[in-house]
Amino acid sequence: MSDCLFCKIAAGEIPSTKVYEDEKVLAFRDINPQAPVHILVIPKQHIESAAAITPENASAVSDCFLAIAKIAAQEHLDNGFRVISNVGEDAGQTVKHLHFHILAGVKMGERIV
Ligand code: AMP
Ligand code: ZN
Repeated sequence: MSDCLFCKIAAGEIPSTKVYEDEKVLAFRDINPQAPVHILVIPKQHIESAAAITPENASAVSDCFLAIAKIAAQEHLDNGFRVISNVGEDAGQTVKHLHFHILAGVKMGERIV
């Protein structure tokens, strides 16, 4: 997707603060952090959102969660963290490329879920 911000970040065309990278996944710090630790985990493959997961592309989800487990260890998120994926307008999805927010470093309570 030539006009997708996260595809451009995955391709290195737009800079990001990289936290983790492997063949399938990139993770970088959110530019507008909502918690002391706020990391975005994306598949390098363009998938619009969690609503666009199919049997053919579903491995991208496990690739992201394998990365999330590694990032949690790497970043010492031993006190816990929250993983969020916004889908569509009501959830406030602003970038139409599947991504998982990792939020940590603060007691989050039960405000959202
Ligand atoms: P969402 O609202 O769930 O679509 O999340 C998109 C996230 O991308 C927001 O938290 C933004 O702060 C973040 N974001 C937008 N542009 C950039 C960028 N260039 N680098 C890092 N994070 C970004
Ligand atoms: Zn994309």
